[in-house]
Amino acid sequence: MSIERTLGLIKPDGLERGKQGQLLDRILQNGFKILAMKQLKLTRAQAEAFYAEHSARPFFDSLCSYMTSGPIIAMTLEKENAIADWRTLMGATNPAKADPGTIRKDFAVDMEKNTVHGSDSPASAAREVPFFFSQLEY
Ligand code: UDP
Ligand code: MG
Repeated sequence: MSIERTLGLIKPDGLERGKQGQLLDRILQNGFKILAMKQLKLTRAQAEAFYAEHSARPFFDSLCSYMTSGPIIAMTLEKENAIADWRTLMGATNPAKADPGTIRKDFAVDMEKNTVHGSDSPASAAREVPFFFSQLEY
């Protein structure tokens, strides 16, 4: 295993319900370094570009509306095996199927409003971290 960087997002439902503090605490308690972090609101075009891989899926339009409904927090997370470990800490996309102790099990509202995002592979991380952060920021 090697030191990796991955993109983490706290989605609008997390901020709207004031869960930022608890979520950041979980991230730090699980050994991730937060190399960079900012709060921002995506435009429709930015949300569509970020989720372009899902553009043909039935949930795409609703997903982009939701992701632009309020501010999000973007983070570059670093640790050994960060990409897979952040996905494990997040839990399954559908919170009803997420394992106990995962963020989505404990915080998600539903399949769409599932509180966090994480890159799903090294290739995704390599695309998604620079989508949100310039080299000057991490
Ligand atoms: N999503 C949804 N309905 C679905 C599948 C996904 O609303 O049936 C939303 C959900 O917010 C999810 C995001 O689209 O996190 C991206 O989907 P993906 O399959 O990439 O899930 P993730 O990688 O976030 O677990
Ligand atoms: Mg995904």
